Amino acid sequence: MNALCLDVLNSDWHDYRGTGKHEDRLLKPGWLQQLVARRGLHVASPPDANAIAALQSLRALMQHMVQAFLQQQAPSEQDIAMLNSYLDTAPFKLHLVRIGEHYQTRQLPLNNDWHWVLGEVAASFAALLAHHDPSRIKQCENPDCRWVYYDESANQNRRWCEDSCANLMRVRRFRARRQGSNR
Ligand SMILES: [Zn+2]
Repeated sequence: MNALCLDVLNSDWHDYRGTGKHEDRLLKPGWLQQLVARRGLHVASPPDANAIAALQSLRALMQHMVQAFLQQQAPSEQDIAMLNSYLDTAPFKLHLVRIGEHYQTRQLPLNNDWHWVLGEVAASFAALLAHHDPSRIKQCENPDCRWVYYDESANQNRRWCEDSCANLMRVRRFRARRQGSNR
């Protein structure tokens, strides 16, 4: 699962090694433009302060909703209404396209601007909840890391974002046990 909303959630980056280092990658020059380009969302102008602030607010909302799911609770009606208000910011039009002998409909944005990107991020999160299993949304159990991911393992028992966190936590547990037995 490589959803756009997960990229935005994880733009709030924390160093998994526990140095306490963290950065808001939305504020990192060029990061957001690279992300949207990779996702095929082409916006002519670079994001201004308003666009970045709006994405930060949407990210905070998604983080809040993720925390609810992590605690096996449903997000509040208020949060859902708020997410819908982000979806409203990106109206689209429907177009018919011919591909070989077949026809497809495409949803095209009315405006290729940062409101559209905001709407696409919200739509990605809405689709994750509507078409997938919200109970599979997880956060890396390394408390320094906090990486949000979608657990696609068969047994739904993935605990870490990556092997690096799993290994680090294994070493920490080992050290903690050794310190305990040395007392
Ligand atoms: Zn991690």
